[in-house]
Amino acid sequence: MDYFRTLVVDDEEDFLETLVKRLKKRHIDTTGVPSGELAIEELKKKLFDVVILDVKMPGGMDGIKTLREIKKIQPLAEVIMLTGHASVETSIEGMKLGAFDYLMKPIKLDDLLSKLAQAFDRKDAQDQKIRKAKIKELIRFPGRVLEQEKD
Ligand SMILES: [Mg+2]
Repeated sequence: MDYFRTLVVDDEEDFLETLVKRLKKRHIDTTGVPSGELAIEELKKKLFDVVILDVKMPGGMDGIKTLREIKKIQPLAEVIMLTGHASVETSIEGMKLGAFDYLMKPIKLDDLLSKLAQAFDRKDAQDQKIRKAKIKELIRFPGRVLEQEKD
């Protein structure tokens, strides 16, 4: 069974293919797409725990634009940005927009895996908090929860 769902977004197709293969080998349910546009399509179809996002991508949807869309569609998904030396500033902007962290290219697989584990951990903690809050709400205002469900 695959426990975590990850979306990898990178325009370098060889890198993308290799990374997806390596993550799948470690039983991470991984989807790879080569553009921001395709990432948005995937995010509308399926829930992801973590998105690994390249900062530098050609065309209209660069890393930052894609990040803004990710946060609109799935605000709880954690985002790890992949950056080159020239785009560290962009990653800092990304962190301000809610990215979990960033890694410098060329990335080491071990570094990425440990960052992924941290991101999954945080996502899991957030999910549990929300679940607990929903349970509290149910106990405190049982009627209100039912009314909301009718809508
Ligand atoms: Mg790129």
